[in-house]
Order: sequence, then structure tokens, then C-alpha cells
Amino acid sequence: MNAETNLIQIVGEDLCKQLVNRKLAFDAIQDVFSAMARGGARNFPVIREGLGHAGAVYGFKSGFDAEGLVLGVKSGGYWPGNADRGLTNHQSTVILFDPDTGQPSALVGGNYLTAIRTAASSAVSIAHLARTDAKVLGMVGAGHQSAYQLRAAAEQRDFEKVVAWNPHPEMLPKLAAVAQDIGLDFESVSQRELGAQADVIITITSAFEPLLMRDWIKPGTHLACMGTDTKGKMEVDPELVASAQVFTDEVAQSVTIGEAQHAVTSGALDPDAITPIGAVINGDHPGRTEIDQITLFDGTGVGLQDLAVASVAARLASEAGLAGTVRL
Ligand code: NAD
Repeated sequence: MNAETNLIQIVGEDLCKQLVNRKLAFDAIQDVFSAMARGGARNFPVIREGLGHAGAVYGFKSGFDAEGLVLGVKSGGYWPGNADRGLTNHQSTVILFDPDTGQPSALVGGNYLTAIRTAASSAVSIAHLARTDAKVLGMVGAGHQSAYQLRAAAEQRDFEKVVAWNPHPEMLPKLAAVAQDIGLDFESVSQRELGAQADVIITITSAFEPLLMRDWIKPGTHLACMGTDTKGKMEVDPELVASAQVFTDEVAQSVTIGEAQHAVTSGALDPDAITPIGAVINGDHPGRTEIDQITLFDGTGVGLQDLAVASVAARLASEAGLAGTVRL
């Protein structure tokens, strides 16, 4: 056999769903945020380009976790017309490489993993930053990601109720069904009412204008802003960002493509005041320091998150002998 023809595992979407549950995703994301803050894992610059075809945005997110020995790339993007074809708008695929040789080791479906790793990211922020007495969860957004977000967040605190708002209200019944499935009351409310009631708020929309204003948010709220992952997007009032204690997955992305980009650009927020969530996980930053403080997690979505959950899927598939293989 030619030593150059290595065996690649094929781990499809169904296998990822079967193997990677919320707990495994939470642990993988928490671990990789921790490694990033220690300098043991780093993301490479993101490529993201409009295709000028099908309205799509396409790109690559890549990185290397030297602690976990995970190297790879997620390639994919956003095709806005997919929903009409019965497909999810986000499409992605992960390729993992052997960091010792550069040979590809696994091809892993990235759609389910993107949703579960993004939900794990906000869940990690809630676990570390939200008040322990939080009872009401506010959801802004009702698209594909929102159901995953709701299920993961609900496991972090003893929530009693979900209040939700979405720019397209006809999408809310699907989210209401998820709340019902996990035994939480659900109320569709105005944006102001959401701010007045919620102790924890997740924003997960494609907005380019603020959907929540500073004055609508009550003291002590934790926000996980998850939708803004591109230059120009915005989900909340930059004044709200500037007045909050801001945490993020990665500062470099937060200030350029994350929710903090606007407050930083206007000079209202000093980039040095933004804390990587990994520092809180590692005990190097206290996180929330006052009960009435507003904490905000700017979840921009980094490549290492994708690689972390993909490597869990590939490892479990290999251990269980479930993955198909192909010789390249
Ligand atoms: P989706 O297309 O399924 O849903 C889109 C959501 O945004 C819906 O709630 C919709 O009502 C709302 N929306 C659409 N156009 C809007 C507009 N012009 N203004 C305000 N709201 C609008 O998308 P999804 O898969 O649920 O993703 C939601 C967002 O999360 C996207 O912006 C996506 O890029 C982002 N995202 C971020 C990460 C991350 O790691 N941070 C990961 C995945 C997705």
C-alpha cells in the first residue's frame, strides 16, 4: 500500500446527531475556550466572501488546538434560499487533519455540529455568568439555531418560563413547541416586555439594526448575543454593549465581526475591557462581580469550536466502528 493513500473517516450528519449530545458539546466547547485563553489553541484568520451567486456568503474557519492535537478547517456559509428547498440556510463541512503529518483524517458533516456548538457556547456563558437565581429566559430569534439555543440554555439554570420575540412572529410557534417539550411556559411578548421580564436573554437573529435597547434591560441580566458574526450585523443597542461587562469567545473576532464591533468603532467600548470567557473558566477573571451587573457574552463563533465538536464525533465514530472510510 502506498503510504500516501491514507484512510479518511466519513462522519455524516446522522452520525453526528447520534453521537454528539449537548453535554459532550458543552464540555468540548468549555475545554477549547479554556485552552484558547491559556494560549494552547489558536484560531486562524477567517475568510468570508460573498459569492455573487445564490445570495450566498461562503468562507473558511480554521485553527489548531495544540493541547488537544486537533487541526482542521470548517468550510461553508449561508445560502438564504435554502429554506425554500427544504434545506437549512447554513451549510458546512469540517475536514480534520493529522497534525503530525498534515494528512486528512476525517470528513465530518458540519450542520448539526454548528448548531450544537453555538448553543453550547451561549450555554457555557450562562453557566459562568448568569445569576444563579435566573428564572425567566428571553429568546430573540426563532430560526434554525434558536431551538438548539433554547434547549442548551434551559439546562443551565432553574428556568420557569420563556419569553420570546422575533421579527417574523409566524416563526415563533416552532420555538413555543420546543419550550413545551422541555416543560417551560412560553409567552410571546414585545421587545420591551422581554427586557422587563428576562433574567437571561439570547439573541440569535440575522439583524443589522438593534432589536433591544439599553433602557429595556433590567439590572443583573445576562445577555448572550449569538447572531452577529459578520461585519455590519447588530442585534442590540451599542450603548447596551458599552454599559455591560463584556465577555467573548475571542476578542479579535468580537471587535471586528461580533456584537462589540459597533461600540468599539464608536469609541464607547475599549477592546481591552472585553474578557475572553476562557479566562473566567480558568479562574483568571472573576466573571460577574455584582448581582446587578449586566453581563454580555459576544458569541462570534470560532473555528476551534467546530473542530472541537467534530473531533468528538470522529473519535466516538471510530471507537464505535460506525464511521465509513475512504482511501484518498
Ligand atoms: P435562520 O435563517 O434560520 O433564522 C434567521 C433569524 O433571524 C430568524 O429569527 C429571523 O426572523 C431573523 N431575521 C431574518 N432577517 C432578519 C432581519 N433583517 N432583521 C432581523 N432579524 C432577521 O438563521 P439561523 O441559522 O437561526 O441563524 C441566526 C443567526 O445566527 C444568523 O445571523 C447566523 O449567521 C448566526 N449564527 C451565529 C453563529 C455563531 O457562532 N455566533 C453560529 C451560527 C449562526
